[in-house]
Parts: sequence; C-alpha cells; structure tokens
Amino acid sequence: RRVNASDLKFISEIGHGSCGHVTRQSFDGVVFAVKTMVRSNIEYEMQRVLMDIDVISKCHSSFIVKCIGYFITPSEVKVCMELMATCLDRLLIRMNHQPFPEPMIGRVNYAVVKALDYLKREHQIMHRDVKPSNILLSWNGEVKLCDFGISGRLIESRAHSRQAGCPLYMGPERFDPKSSDYTILSDVWSLGVSLMELATGRYPFLMEREFDMIMLIIEQPPPQLRAEDNFTPEFCDLVNNCLRKNPEERPRYEAILQHPFTKAYENAPLEEMEEWFVGHMEEE
Ligand code: ADP
Ligand code: MG
Repeated sequence: RRVNASDLKFISEIGHGSCGHVTRQSFDGVVFAVKTMVRSNIEYEMQRVLMDIDVISKCHSSFIVKCIGYFITPSEVKVCMELMATCLDRLLIRMNHQPFPEPMIGRVNYAVVKALDYLKREHQIMHRDVKPSNILLSWNGEVKLCDFGISGRLIESRAHSRQAGCPLYMGPERFDPKSSDYTILSDVWSLGVSLMELATGRYPFLMEREFDMIMLIIEQPPPQLRAEDNFTPEFCDLVNNCLRKNPEERPRYEAILQHPFTKAYENAPLEEMEEWFVGHMEEE
C-alpha cells in the first residue's frame, strides 16, 4: 500500500549534519533512521540530494547502509534508512579518543574498501566524503558506509567537480588549482586518514584553523603510521601507501583487497566487533 510521510512516527533525534538532520522514526512497529533535508531551491543542491537517493536506493551491498524508501514533499526530502547504532567519530568521542584496537580497524578497513569497490564497479561512482562520521556500526557488529550525497558519477574515472567533501579528509591533489579533476584515488587518501584517526584516536594533522589545515595537507610530508607504536607492519604498510601525496602511487581497490592487512579480516567473525563495540557503548 501507499505510504505517506505522515505515517511515520517520530521517536527521537539522532543528529545534525551538513545537509539535514537524522531522526529515529517508526512505521508499523519497525524503527528506521530518517534523514530529513529541506528541499532546496538551489538547483545543484537539489540535484545532489536526488542523486544521493538515486544511488543509495540502488545499492545492494552488506557494506552499505540500506535505503528503505523515500518521500519527496513540496518542502522536504526524507530518506528512510536502516537504523544503525552509531558512527565512528561519535564512538571515538565516547571512548575519549582512545585508539581502536588494530583488529577492529581491520574490520572497518575491510568493510569500507568492499563498499567503495562495489560503488565503483557496480555504479561507476566514487564516494568523495569518506570520513569517520560516514562509517556506521550496527548493534550486531556490522560496519557500513553511508552518505553518497556528494558522490559523482565517474567520467573515465575522473570527477569534474571540486565543491565536494570535507576538506579535512581530502587528498592534497584536491586543492591543486592546476589539476581540474581528481580520481578515485582521492577516496583512498580519505580512507588512509580515517584509518589513521582510528589508530591514534585523533585526526592526524595538527588541528588549527581550517585555512592552515589545508596548507598543512598540501605542504607537509603526509602523516605516517610507525611500527614502533606497536602497529603491525602490514597495517603500517597499507595506511602509509594510502597516504602517498602523489595519487598515482596509492593502491587501487583491487590492490587494497589483496593486501595482507585487508585479507586478514576478510572472514573475521562479527561477534568480536559486536562484543568490543557494545562494551564501549554500555560504559559510561
Ligand atoms: P555528517 O555530515 O556528520 O555525516 P549526517 O547528516 O550524515 O551528518 O548525519 C548526522 C548524524 O546521524 C551522524 O552523527 C550519524 O551518525 C547519524 N546517522 C546517519 N545515518 C544514520 C543511520 N542510518 N542510523 C543511525 N544513525 C545515523
Ligand atoms: Mg553523514
């Protein structure tokens, strides 16, 4: 039967983001996460929202947050998604920036690379906003990627837009005025920054004003994970290669999927993630 936006029952707020807010809502006794965005009369913003919905509703991967349906009213766009427990940046805050154990990062890496590889191969898109707040965890330990709001269709693996993504997680090439486009390899950099943040508990560039941050990303040698800090050599190798300043030196998804650090967590049981994660969510 036809469902209207008014059939949803509000339960509670989840959070605000850059282009809307997310709430818990129920319908027929099932609880969903609903992202509500004000309908924009700015054309490119509305296109962005519609593309987000178009892509997310066609994605069938266990590593991508499921879209159950959507409503477009004269004033709002609402996207109903499966309800997840939390995102990784909130979990880090909850843990007082205590680093994640390496096996948990291994599970995150595996899921995110599978999701990105799926988006590229099946839908010819890059994500363009990979960061801890767009990586979600479910109560049973699944890791899933969300928010393709600014993902673009790959045109010969290059995206022709610059106004996308959170600058803190962008590769240095995305600030280069001489290159008018960037490739899927920019998402690999963002993955590297995100994994490094989970490994150390902190965003790896010194936090200063945003302008200075961009200068740091462009001018400094990239941050590196060191085996002296008790990370395995495989983990250091993968992260440090993702963080090469020259995009062409970064590994592609096929290579990341074959990397020993990724392979090691291919068949890791969900229960271990669940146990670790639920433990942290209950602590207060
Ligand atoms: P951001 O720009 O920080 O990613 P969003 O608008 O995408 O903001 O999301 C706002 C908050 O809602 C985030 O903290 C995220 O954890 C949470 N959230 C988004 N989607 C879901 C979901 N499907 N289940 C549970 N929480 C979600
Ligand atoms: Mg988000």
